[in-house]
Amino acid sequence: MTENLIKKFPSAWEQLKDGEKEKVFSFSEEYKTFLDNGKTERESTEEIIKLAKGKGYISFEDVISKGSFKAGDKIYAENKGKGVVLFVIGEESLERGMKIIGSHLDAPRLDLKAQPLYEDGDLALLKTHYYGGVKKYQWVALPLALHGVIYNKKGEKINIVIGEEDSDPVFYITDLLPHLAKDQMEKKMSEGIIGESLNVLIGSIPYNGEKDDAIKLNVLKLLNEKYGIVEEDFTVAELEIVPAGKARDVGIDRSMIAGHGHDDRVCAFASLKAVLEVENPKKTVVGLFVDKEEVGSQGNTGMESMFFENIIAELLYLEGVTSHLGVRRAMANSRVLSADVTAGFDPNFPDVSDKRNTPYIGKGVTLTKYTGSRGKSGSNDANAEFLSEIRNIFNEAHVAWQVGELGKVDQGGGGTIAYILANKGAEVVDCGTPMLSMHAPIELVSKIDLYNTYKAYKAFYKA
Ligand code: MN
Ligand code: MN
Repeated sequence: MTENLIKKFPSAWEQLKDGEKEKVFSFSEEYKTFLDNGKTERESTEEIIKLAKGKGYISFEDVISKGSFKAGDKIYAENKGKGVVLFVIGEESLERGMKIIGSHLDAPRLDLKAQPLYEDGDLALLKTHYYGGVKKYQWVALPLALHGVIYNKKGEKINIVIGEEDSDPVFYITDLLPHLAKDQMEKKMSEGIIGESLNVLIGSIPYNGEKDDAIKLNVLKLLNEKYGIVEEDFTVAELEIVPAGKARDVGIDRSMIAGHGHDDRVCAFASLKAVLEVENPKKTVVGLFVDKEEVGSQGNTGMESMFFENIIAELLYLEGVTSHLGVRRAMANSRVLSADVTAGFDPNFPDVSDKRNTPYIGKGVTLTKYTGSRGKSGSNDANAEFLSEIRNIFNEAHVAWQVGELGKVDQGGGGTIAYILANKGAEVVDCGTPMLSMHAPIELVSKIDLYNTYKAYKAFYKA
């Protein structure tokens, strides 16, 4: 009786079949490598394209110059080095709709300002402006790495990664010693460390014989020797400060992973692995990886941009569909999993969740009908009809899944790219990995949830 009528969400570890546990752990090793190789949206984009090319994907530009494509073709379209979309062309016309899984590659971090380098108190530092929703106090007193691109005066792009190799130096933001922190400790947490004090230490040796700004000059000399850059080049750069080091297993049972940028690279990786396994689908299958989600999805690399629809329009044109209706039909007939993380129940902070409706670490991939805040405001509220389809797909594929919401009613909230695709008429539901310490420099996910996210995405593409 109970089994038939009561819905329970047991531990996903207990739902594993024989031999599956090994897969969970080997899949997690691949994921950690993906995280370590892609600590920025640019690096992640490069990594995705590398893996896609290895599976026979050809570039969108090649398809355009060839002037045709056919069912079964695998195509990637890169968006300014910061996003990419993978297609496996289906038997049906694109107008009949696609199966899309959309995730984002950007993560909260500190960006360097346009004029970052200065000297103060016999130290050289870099000014930053944080990107996305960060708790500023979390970014002090830990080893940091510098990633990004900078252009020299010849217009050549120079890729920079400093702080990831064991032999590399790292960077560092200071915090106040407790002995002198009386005033600081009495402040609100949001004001204890302020944005303008997130200045990154980059050097302390003066250039011999120089009177003014000798330490800054020495830093510039070292950068010039290594990268051929001068101070003005910082004005035409995109440089990001992220925590230094690799993703690590957590727990004596190695069941979890601590790493930078799980939001949202955990869903990006799960969907990447799923799309790379698709062959000859009926409907075109799409792995969509976008930028700028953490700052509102605006700009030409964010989900609000026309990039994706322009690519669809170009592909439809090659199919012979020249009416603008083609794109609209393709979008409106599509089914989408908005692949983004959600907040798992945290026993250290139980009061922010409704225990009966929060996702838990270790119980599998999470279906989130609605996000938003204060009465679901700003949310894509998925349709019951679509949820019903997805539930049956997951149950049939023995996916360990649970339901969730982002915090209890009136506690706060958040959003994803779901509403953007839903606004075009597609059926969309948020479906991703539950996690802890979201937006912290180092975040936490469970390996079993990662694995079930992949299983869920694979089942969605296959159905
Ligand atoms: Mn996210
Ligand atoms: Mn986020």
